[in-house]
Amino acid sequence: MHETVFDKILSGDLPADSVYEDDEVLAFRDINPQAPVHILVIPKAKFARFTEIASRPIEETGRFFSAISKVATSLNLDDSGYRVVINNGRDSGQAVEYFHAHILAGRRFAWPPG
Ligand code: AMP
Repeated sequence: MHETVFDKILSGDLPADSVYEDDEVLAFRDINPQAPVHILVIPKAKFARFTEIASRPIEETGRFFSAISKVATSLNLDDSGYRVVINNGRDSGQAVEYFHAHILAGRRFAWPPG
């Protein structure tokens, strides 16, 4: 797997505005925010796409999604609500081939998405 910007953030080679970290997960602010709050959550155990999630241990996946919720709560987003987005592959617009979830909040979002 080629090195992505998120590998560089994880190794400390690139700076990031981190909001949460534990043994398995890192969360940091998106460099090009699409909402007043725009956080990226990545697993430290890398895989490229959501497509591969079935090959990961189910407990690890559960803890990843729990971490997303924990990050949102820590940023006081539970009352206002937020959107969690996972882009997978070309048509989704996935730009970084390192699996990640977006947390978007702080404004009203349209549905269906563009
Ligand atoms: P995606 O389209 O789901 O692959 O989203 C990739 C996201 O990574 C985009 O929203 C980018 O703005 C964001 N991004 C790219 N480089 C960086 C960086 N160095 N620090 C923080 N976010 C980044």
